[in-house]
Amino acid sequence: MKDLLIFDMDGVLVDVTESYRATIQATVKYFTGDEPSREEIQDWKNRGGWNDDWQLSTRMIHERGRQTPYEEVVDYFQKLFHGDGTNGMILREQWVAVDGLFERLGARHHLAVFTGRLRWEANVTLERFLPNRFTPVVGADDVQRTKPDPEGLHKICASLAHGKCWYVGDTVDDARASAAARIPFIGIAARGNPRYDELVRLLRDAGAVAVLDDINSLEAAIAPIR
Ligand SMILES: [Mg+2]
Repeated sequence: MKDLLIFDMDGVLVDVTESYRATIQATVKYFTGDEPSREEIQDWKNRGGWNDDWQLSTRMIHERGRQTPYEEVVDYFQKLFHGDGTNGMILREQWVAVDGLFERLGARHHLAVFTGRLRWEANVTLERFLPNRFTPVVGADDVQRTKPDPEGLHKICASLAHGKCWYVGDTVDDARASAAARIPFIGIAARGNPRYDELVRLLRDAGAVAVLDDINSLEAAIAPIR
């Protein structure tokens, strides 16, 4: 029976520094005239509970004294992020895995995705970089409760027979979801993260069995835990 590797998407499968993170910055700037730094955004993420970038953008706008309604923020955010399909910020995201990584991992593992994105938005990216490799893909619209709730992890685990299971994520909310589901958690802290040291400590404190720079060292990390 194959083991099961469940991946978070943003910051794990794809580098979203120039896509989601830049869209938060531009959205807050549009409504307030004040652009937040990447450090400020990471500080919110490290606090936990701010996995949703629409809610986070709205909160940062309100903190700057503007009471822009949530729906208006989401509208603008989505316009920037998707553009007309040929010019959105989503196209700036970078696939992290080197060629062959998921072919090798897939030989011994089921590969699944649990993301805070809507499922169609996750699929846009997966279809662009590596179609038909991850099953199932569970998005924010597939669960009643989003991360740090473990509902999505339970759903994936229940959907296929598997041996051991891991969740690979890059935020404290991912680690908390994993702990709640009693699934070992592997943390990803990119070297370029503006709060790298703090993030590594937070992920370890939240129970990560390993913290890696990126998913390309995953095979070496899970070999001794198998
Ligand atoms: Mg993430």
